[in-house]
Amino acid sequence: MSENKWLSHHIPKMKFVREAVKKFMPGETEEAALEASKKYFSIEIPTVFTKLGENIISLNDAEILRYHYLNLVDKIKESRMNIEISVKLTQLGFDLSEEKTKIFANEIVNKVDSELGNTFFIDIEGSSYTQRTINFYKGILKDSQNVGLCLQAYLYRTEQDLIDLLKLNSSIRMVKGAYKEPADIAFQKKIKVDENYFLLAKMMMNATLQKNSRMIYATHDEKLISKIIEEAKMIGLKNEQLEFQMLYGIKSSLQRKLAAEGFKVRVLISYGQSWFPWYMRRLAERPANVWFVLKNLFS
Ligand SMILES: Cc1cc2nc3c(=O)[nH]c(=O)nc-3n(C[C@H](O)[C@H](O)[C@H](O)COP(=O)(O)OP(=O)(O)OC[C@H]3O[C@@H](n4cnc5c(N)ncnc54)[C@H](O)[C@@H]3O)c2cc1C
Repeated sequence: MSENKWLSHHIPKMKFVREAVKKFMPGETEEAALEASKKYFSIEIPTVFTKLGENIISLNDAEILRYHYLNLVDKIKESRMNIEISVKLTQLGFDLSEEKTKIFANEIVNKVDSELGNTFFIDIEGSSYTQRTINFYKGILKDSQNVGLCLQAYLYRTEQDLIDLLKLNSSIRMVKGAYKEPADIAFQKKIKVDENYFLLAKMMMNATLQKNSRMIYATHDEKLISKIIEEAKMIGLKNEQLEFQMLYGIKSSLQRKLAAEGFKVRVLISYGQSWFPWYMRRLAERPANVWFVLKNLFS
């Protein structure tokens, strides 16, 4: 459904769907995201922003997003809150001109570095982009250290990618993966994805132990989080050396509990008008979310 053009045109206009989406995003504008961040900021949980929208069709759209992110840096600076930015390369024209994407990304990265002094993250998209995204990331890393990359635990290749990237002192955000990938390249069963995630997490924890690298465990899976915490204790990591990231609106009480226990927690807030494919992926992750949408239809 996330790739269906007819649905992506019609569904976002339906009022009950628009209402249901509010569970996962505070609004369509960066102002709504900034407002939502204030609540997290008051309980000392920083956030990371991402503007929804992928696979833009003209470089003009990429230019618009380039300026959006450059302006966003100013707005974040003005807000004085600890907010990072995470971006999909296809938003910056990756399908159209890698050269332009590099120019746009470098510009944003440099501004993030000088104005916010924090890390700019690159999201990871479907598998047709994995190798190109990693190559792009390595290229950008040569000029700026304040860039991190997201990797997906459901891909068989990720173990080797992680080994390579850890040698470069990369900042990594590990997720399970949100796209539908075939069995020849990705684990299909949840149990296998979880096992691989834990294996990768152990490698990441060692990187923190040895080089104090910034490693992020972006998952809402409580069992997995408990296993990671247990392992971290066993190898001698302190609570503040583990960073968990979760999505706005998902497992909010767990976010607060982990933060209260001294773990680093950061919440990813999405905003923007092009929320349809992203929202379909959120529904697919948990069938109960579909019931939530239907409940909105009847309420
Ligand atoms: C900060 C962050 C950044 C991300 N960036 C990317 C990216 O760049 N590329 C990418 O492919 N994916 C990204 N994802 C999405 C990720 O790949 C997963 O699809 C998503 O996090 C669900 O997997 P999970 O680890 O929570 O585990 P799951 O096994 O899917 O879920 C564990 C439990 O968490 C809860 N839960 C999970 N998802 C939902 C939901 N949608 N609604 C309600 N409850 C839910 C449920 O209780 C579920 O039982 C990101 C996720 C986070 C948190």
